[in-house]
Amino acid sequence: MLNALTISELGKKLAAREVSAREATQACLDRIQQVDGRVRAFVSYDARDALAQAAAADQRLAAGERGPLLGVPLGIKDVISVKGQPLRCGSKILGQFVSPYDATVIQKLRAAGAVVFGRLNMDEFAMGSSTENSAFQTTGNPWDTSRIPGGSSGGSAAAVAADECVAALGSDTGGSIRQPAALCGCVGLKPSYGRVSRFGLVAFASSLDQIGSFTKQVRDAATMLEALSGVDPCDSTSVPQPVPHYATSLSGEVKGLRLGLAKEYMVGGLNPEVRLAMDAAVNQLVKLGAELVEISLPHTDYAVATYYIIATAEASANLARFDGIRYGARVEGADPTELYSKTRGAGFGPEVKRRILLGTYVLSSGYYDAYYIRAQKVRTLIRADFLKAFEKVDAIITPTSPTPAFKIGEKADDPLQMYLMDIFTISANLAGICGISVPCGFTPSPRLPIGLQLLGKPFGEETILRVAHAYEQATAWHKEKPPLS
Ligand code: GLN
Repeated sequence: MLNALTISELGKKLAAREVSAREATQACLDRIQQVDGRVRAFVSYDARDALAQAAAADQRLAAGERGPLLGVPLGIKDVISVKGQPLRCGSKILGQFVSPYDATVIQKLRAAGAVVFGRLNMDEFAMGSSTENSAFQTTGNPWDTSRIPGGSSGGSAAAVAADECVAALGSDTGGSIRQPAALCGCVGLKPSYGRVSRFGLVAFASSLDQIGSFTKQVRDAATMLEALSGVDPCDSTSVPQPVPHYATSLSGEVKGLRLGLAKEYMVGGLNPEVRLAMDAAVNQLVKLGAELVEISLPHTDYAVATYYIIATAEASANLARFDGIRYGARVEGADPTELYSKTRGAGFGPEVKRRILLGTYVLSSGYYDAYYIRAQKVRTLIRADFLKAFEKVDAIITPTSPTPAFKIGEKADDPLQMYLMDIFTISANLAGICGISVPCGFTPSPRLPIGLQLLGKPFGEETILRVAHAYEQATAWHKEKPPLS
């Protein structure tokens, strides 16, 4: 089953010309036919276009070109522009919109010869932790399709876990790569802010958003990061730092590395099975030679509140462009004001409306200083907590999500419960640092994946990849497959 291989396994076969990109792409398309009726990860895909890209990759391979992503089929979250493909961000408001250009990450993947195909389901405008806020469908967790896959990049996580593609792109504003990766049992990497260009990513909260990958193994996360990273003249927040050859950092060694455990993260709401898995993972890393250091991140308690002020404020500004005038769905009105309100009233779902209202409120005159400015100050303190901790440690270990995947519908009526799902992931976005989630165990019954999160310094991806890889190689969690026949 070529679709079940990792990027590095498939890449070897393609390079040796044992298999073709066309066969690999067809295997993914067949798998979608077989399981996506239950998983519902894809909102759409264009099989003809995928096979045409694969044929072009085969020609490049035949001409002697080689590269780690040449001919590898990758799924794309429905928030990243792919020229000629629908772009709907899990929302009705974009109507039948088709992207007129490729995002920078897509240009890079095309240059590397990857087959970029499919639109993967997500919470509307990436707002959510369960994919239940998609206007189209709720994705099922491949380990138990009556449960959520996490979110907002739930389609990306589920598609990779169900072997419907070899790897996928997602975006992470407060945990949307790491949390679904944990809940579906794959590897999710959120790069440091500025590492990867956001050009062509539909903005949710521009100071927090980053594009990253879902993969089946840590080595593939290194390969993807190298392909995606780099400064981009189209994104002024991308940073001109050299792009390392990330795969060479995967030495398998953690001896002498100092790993921080934050006392504030061992909170009451942590599910006991997640706690057990996390403790076992920590022991494993100690056995491998890492040194544990207790650290303090004193402003942790304020992270969720700070995030929901800053992210909603930025979202309210970013989503103002969806007004029915220039593109997307339109509901006519007697005058422009009525047209805007009818279009936005019909086009946005309840969670997006809630966030726009919250964000508009915290930015409004009279409340701006009390909420928005204060949240920015707390954000600075949260970043300072991390920078201080990183003077003592090389990486920080936490659970990725406080609980395993819950049942579809279980938290849908309780936004606050849903917001608390982000408690361990949100701070990394506020601080601009990098994070990765790797599989670290399962709940016994039902059998659901658990993820371990490693947080690293700004532009410290090599260190977290190294620790994640060493841990992965010492365990077998990543080899397990969901019970989908
Ligand atoms: N779950 C968080 C939210 O709802 C994070 C989403 C994200 O990272 N895009 O905002």
